Amino acid sequence: MRLQELDTSRRFRAEVLTSRRITPARSPVEVRELELAVPSGMPGCDAGQSVGVLAPGDPELSQAEHLRLYTVADMPQTIDSDRVKLKLCVRRCDYVDRYSGERYQGRASHYLCDRHVGDAVVLTGPYGDIFRLPDDPQADLILIAAGTGIAPYRAFIRRIDDDHPDFQGTIHLIHGGRSRLDLLYQNEVLDDLSQYTTRDRFRATTAVAERPHWSENIDWDAALEPQAEPLRQALLAPHTYVYLAGLEPIRDEIDRVLGKTFGSIETWARRKAELIAGGRWHELLY
Ligand SMILES: Cc1cc2nc3c(=O)[nH]c(=O)nc-3n(C[C@H](O)[C@H](O)[C@H](O)COP(=O)(O)OP(=O)(O)OC[C@H]3O[C@@H](n4cnc5c(N)ncnc54)[C@H](O)[C@@H]3O)c2cc1C
Repeated sequence: MRLQELDTSRRFRAEVLTSRRITPARSPVEVRELELAVPSGMPGCDAGQSVGVLAPGDPELSQAEHLRLYTVADMPQTIDSDRVKLKLCVRRCDYVDRYSGERYQGRASHYLCDRHVGDAVVLTGPYGDIFRLPDDPQADLILIAAGTGIAPYRAFIRRIDDDHPDFQGTIHLIHGGRSRLDLLYQNEVLDDLSQYTTRDRFRATTAVAERPHWSENIDWDAALEPQAEPLRQALLAPHTYVYLAGLEPIRDEIDRVLGKTFGSIETWARRKAELIAGGRWHELLY
């Protein structure tokens, strides 16, 4: 999805209802959940879709506005006849300019994280494909996410629970964060994912870095190796659908680990190509 090509002509003024930090104060990572009241005239958002946020642009660059996308982090709820509640899960981002070496604040994420209750936010969209539930009620789902990539799955699992009581497949959530503190929706501040679904066939695997304070990456190997064979069988089964969400590097990391699970990168690449060709591999990467 190229930002420059998105149609932003229809804009909607949302209002911040709540904003709360969902990583503990002692975590170096600040992620906030914002609840926004959105006019009901805005097209409906579904699991897997994102809304555009128009933050004020950088005057030094003569930029009027700064557009960034945020995935809906729950199914929208009706507030009243005029308004719908949307949840976003926003990580406060900083980045280091690769030429100057200077640290900058991410414009849209800081803007959103600094909004207060009652403030207005201009939204566009929604954009992107909806996570569709397979027609087969016995299908198994493997949902893999790191960091804020968990957001669309909260909406997806909620939709399955609310709208598809006949769905009998297993949902296997594989969820990574740098540390236990940063494991969104499964940490000491907010732990709703463990109780999120009432279904029996829900499994969660969590992955963290071995030494997060040394800025190590998420140790997917340690999390997935103990269940390598069941995972391989699930990925070979004809009714398994895989979803992958979060920052782009997760794709290579998961390919590397599944390459080990399948005995070689080439064997896994062949299987993955079959999953893609069969419409059973979905990505929401950024
Ligand atoms: C389809 C889509 C869905 C997205 N959904 C979400 C979401 O639900 N929550 C969310 O926080 N962000 C999400 N993002 C990322 C978001 O759009 C912004 O790119 C991010 O907030 C940084 O924007 P900025 O203006 O603050 O900083 P920028 O000036 O754009 O730069 C920020 C720096 O932070 C890095 N970065 C971007 N996003 C993240 C992240 N989530 N975690 C760690 N580092 C990051 C970038 O690589 C860049 O180096 C999504 C992006 C896309 C394309």
